[in-house]
Parts: sequence; structure tokens; C-alpha cells
Amino acid sequence: RRPLESEVMLEKDRISYFYDGDVGNVYFGPNHPMKPHRLCMTHHLVLSYDLHKKMEIYRPHKAYPTELAQFHSADYVEFLHRITPDTQHLYASELTRYNLGEDCPVFDDLFEFCQIYAGGTLGNRKIANASFCFVISLSFFFYCSDAARRLNHKTCDIAINWAGGLHHAKKCEASGFCYINDLVLGILELLKYHARVLYIDIDVHHGDGVEEAFYFTDRVMTVSFHKYGDMFFPGTGDIKDIGDREGKYYAINIPLKDGIDDTSFTRLFKTIIAKVVETYLPGAIVLQCGADSLARDRLGCFNLSIEGHAECVKFVKKFKIPLLVTGGGGYTKENVARCWAVETGVLLDTELPNEIPDNEYIEYFGPDYTLKVPNLNMDNLNSKTYLSSIKVQVMESLRAIQHAPGVQMQEVPPDFYVPDFDEDELDPDERVDQHTQDKQVHRDDEYYEG
Ligand SMILES: [Zn+2]
Repeated sequence: RRPLESEVMLEKDRISYFYDGDVGNVYFGPNHPMKPHRLCMTHHLVLSYDLHKKMEIYRPHKAYPTELAQFHSADYVEFLHRITPDTQHLYASELTRYNLGEDCPVFDDLFEFCQIYAGGTLGNRKIANASFCFVISLSFFFYCSDAARRLNHKTCDIAINWAGGLHHAKKCEASGFCYINDLVLGILELLKYHARVLYIDIDVHHGDGVEEAFYFTDRVMTVSFHKYGDMFFPGTGDIKDIGDREGKYYAINIPLKDGIDDTSFTRLFKTIIAKVVETYLPGAIVLQCGADSLARDRLGCFNLSIEGHAECVKFVKKFKIPLLVTGGGGYTKENVARCWAVETGVLLDTELPNEIPDNEYIEYFGPDYTLKVPNLNMDNLNSKTYLSSIKVQVMESLRAIQHAPGVQMQEVPPDFYVPDFDEDELDPDERVDQHTQDKQVHRDDEYYEG
């Protein structure tokens, strides 16, 4: 039969992908490990595999200072807006206060860079929420029919922003190459429509900025898998840190040691995430896919293959809960690009041929020009005993939630007020620039290709 128009629309809205080539052109400095150029490489791999034909591509709006200040302090946002490499010598005390300098240098177009990657993550919410409302009206329309139930249960809205995922940024300061915490901003938006949001982080570093922002609330559960110990950055993320006050048991930390491999990581990930989703019943999931947990990362110390990393993405997708996927760390850029291209494929149910098609950055993928990267021959310092003790402690924490019935099942509580952002109140000069006008790239031609 021909699909209903409503089903077609739903299908079209399934996957939104955000990209702005300008983010890839900023430069942190010659010896800095963060290379935004990896985002251009990722995007061109995605294009070379024709994945853009299977999703909606958007150019994100540049987030406005008022949007950034929904989480960050206004003075910090204002300083980021104002500071330039040429003027920074005049602001020594502010640079110290906001932790700008070595790890988080001031570079040309810093603020615009933040606006774009945060705009991508914030933009997701607009799509996700639009679809969410759409699903509600659909189910009303097909009330009591199988179609509604089928649509509701099979609906899977996914938004991808590989430029986002800067999980270390704090309310009033930069940290670990992160200036603005787009994840916190995205989650705050999702909380306007969803009673509970689950945040999952597979970057090799602890997702400290996101955990800290929601440490005292049960409306966001944060789950971070990361290297812990040996003074590894940022130093937080002990298994004993489980949240506090209303948020007690709603922060989960999985501290790991060097060399964790695909088998142990994915087994632990699936066991824990399955139980978390079953217990917490999130309305939306935010997945930070930092690629510095891959083997051979310049700063990382894990031994995951791209398949192992992508297996986690595949697993989360299977829950068919509205999903926002971001990038994060990742410092061996050809592998970051490989990983996020493969994961874009996973989200589109498309397996990519191992041989990389010709593209603008093909020379980076030599000498083999393939997607697969072999694991390293390194010891896994995570013993079976150690991993099972972690699992036991996490399961205990989750049981504590189950024993507090009612809390996790409530509707969106009205008392958690997140002020709405009114675009009409903005300075019109700032609003109507070319960037805003062409922020949306329609792909209708591709869509009807069948
Ligand atoms: Zn990282």
C-alpha cells in the first residue's frame, strides 16, 4: 500500500544532521590537540558515503548570547563575546577567573565557534520537540487505532551534531577545551517537554560539566563511562559520586582503567544502560560520543575499535526513544572522522563499505584508505572482578530508585521553570544576517528519490 502522508512526514523528520563548515576552520593553536578540522573530515566522509541523501541536513543557527546564558553566567558569556587574541593581554585577572589560557586558549572567532556548535545542539531540540508535538497530534488523530500505537512505538527522532558534546564547560568557566556546554543547554531545552532526560557519555574523560549541572535533580540522569585514576583529566567521576539531595542515585559513574577492550566495554555498557532505561524510563536521550575512547587516540588510553564504539550507539538507538547524538573529544583526527561517519551510518541503518570512497580529505586515510582500524595489542587493566564489582554497585544504586515509587513516573513538573527564549525580542541587526537566512538547507530533492 502507499504510505499515509503522515507516515511519510514522520519518516522524513526521523534524522536531522547539523553541520556548519565554519566550525572546522577555527584554529586552537599549533601545539593544541583539539583540531576542529576533524569536523570537516567527518562531514566529507559522510558525503562520500552518500549518507546525506538519507537525512535532513541543517546549518545550525548561531546561538544567541541570551540562549547561552540559560546555563552560563551572563558575565562569562559577555567576556567570551568580547575577548580577542589581540586584547587578551589587558584582561589577565578575567582570563584566570574564567580559566582561559593554555587548555582553553583565546583564538580568532572563538565566540562564533561557540555559537555554532551550541546552536547545533539547541537546534536539535526544535526538531525533536516539533516532531514530538506532531506525534501527539497524530496519535490523537488515529486515536484507538493500531496505526497510532505502531507509529508511537516505532517513532524514533534522531538529531546529530558532531560539532557539539563539549562536556567539560562549567557555568562560569571554560575547562578541558570546552567553553560553552552545549549538552547542558540542549538538555535544558528537552526538559521543557520531557519529564526525564537520560544523558550517556562514552568519551574517555568524565562528563563532569553535565554531571555537575544536574547533580541535584532527578529529572536528568547522567551516566558517564570514563578513565579514572592516575591524575587523568578531569579527576572526577568516582563510582561513589551518585548525585545528592533530589538527585541522589541519579548520577552514575563508571570509572575504568587503561586498555579496556570492545568485549568488556560493550558488555558493561549494555548491561548498565538496559537497566537504566528500564528503571528511569527517559522521554529523551542525549548521547555524547567522544571518540577519544578509541584505541590510538592521542590523549586517550582505552583500546576500543570503531565497531566497539559504534556498538554502543547501535544499542542506544534500539530503544527508539528521541535521541540527540553529539561528538566530543577525539584527538587522532582521521580515526575521529572514521568513527563518526560509521556512527552516522549506524543511526541511518546503513553499513558502510570498508573501502573509503574518494573525497576531499582522502589522503588522511592512507595507506589503506579503509574504515576499519585494528585494535592495539595492549593489556586490559580492568579485571573481570573489578568490572563485576562496578556493575554490582551501579545495580544497587538503581534499585534504590525503584524503591522510591512515584518520583520517576510523574508528569513534567511545573515547578522546574526554564524561561522561554523569544527570538522576536532580539536586536534585528543581529538577527537578519545571511547566516540566519541560509541556516536551513532543504533536501526535498533527495527525499523523493525513493
Ligand atoms: Zn575527552
